[in-house]
Amino acid sequence: MFGLIGHLTSLQHAQLVARDLGYPEYADQGLDFWCSAPPQIVDNITVTSVTGQTIEGRYLESCFLPEMLANRRIKAATRKILNAMAHAQKHGIDITALGGFSSIIFENFKLEQFRQVRNVELEFERFTTGNTHTAYIICRQVEQASEQVGIDLSQATVAVCGATGDIGSAVCRWLDKKTDVQDFLLIARNQDRLQELQSELGRGKIMPLESGLPLADIVVWVASMPKGLDIDSHTFKKPCLLIDGGYPKNLATKLQHPEVRVLNGGIVEHSLDIDWKIMQIVNMDVPGRQLFACFAESMLLEFEKLYTNFSWGRNQITVEKMEQIGHLSLKHGFRPLLV
Ligand code: NDP
Repeated sequence: MFGLIGHLTSLQHAQLVARDLGYPEYADQGLDFWCSAPPQIVDNITVTSVTGQTIEGRYLESCFLPEMLANRRIKAATRKILNAMAHAQKHGIDITALGGFSSIIFENFKLEQFRQVRNVELEFERFTTGNTHTAYIICRQVEQASEQVGIDLSQATVAVCGATGDIGSAVCRWLDKKTDVQDFLLIARNQDRLQELQSELGRGKIMPLESGLPLADIVVWVASMPKGLDIDSHTFKKPCLLIDGGYPKNLATKLQHPEVRVLNGGIVEHSLDIDWKIMQIVNMDVPGRQLFACFAESMLLEFEKLYTNFSWGRNQITVEKMEQIGHLSLKHGFRPLLV
């Protein structure tokens, strides 16, 4: 059985959907209440591959909210992730994806040192960040959507916002090795890490966000921002392709400009309907078929009975592993979202 550990995008979002999730008593509660709420299994899932194989899974709501980080409720945030992982393990789930901020919190606060959660000793090989599949899907979106909008990669400047992150660095590695992208703009805050990435790639310009955005033909947004930025469409080059892979979205604004194409990044579409209700709750356009690529990674590992932490640690995603998970993604009927 596979598992998905997820969270909602804000306190307001959580209050809105608590009733749909079957928890009316959570609907009017503030951040303090969510800080003390335990993890819950809120959805049972059945997925069928195009090969005909069927698997079962569970969605676990960790009750983490991005406001916990903004309000320095770090202890609550870390407890949410560890408790959700222990809950998954106690329920016998073989492989569980750490969605959205779950893996970021795990890494940032070095949660591998807290293996013992009450009477459960966490077995990390039962978990995957799902970032290898997410990075692969974002790269395929860059390759396929750029062709659709008429941007030639060999003449394109690609800005990666969050370039030094787990997903961002993997995206840079793939686009550098597998495509003929003309130039990279590397955007993040920590300069040492940016320089390390630049020397690994042997190219790319380090730039602040404000000066980088107007120069890019393609922007890949994979920064771990707890709240999206409000950016005007005038900021961007025309035409421009924006691939927003953040959860919550890095771009808060709904841009409406005919020459600025915004794509939901890191989202896959399955070829067959999935029996679940959770993607409706996170407002996916086609909730029966569309899902986060990190969640799809745990499904792929379950289909293949690969019970291992396929994606783990930071900045260790190789092009070879992206190819491997990409092959499984196609085999089981997933494809990158392109509309
Ligand atoms: P990491 O924490 O590994 O990396 C985050 C990157 O963002 C770092 O380069 C960081 O560098 C940069 N960053 C953070 N804040 C800012 C800022 N204000 N301005 C510029 N850069 C910033 O995160 P991941 O790679 O694991 O995840 C990235 C995003 O992808 C997250 O939003 C996550 O929720 C989402 N995600 C989506 C998935 C999907 O299936 N679609 C799956 C998993 C994650 P620095 O701190 O130096 O600025």
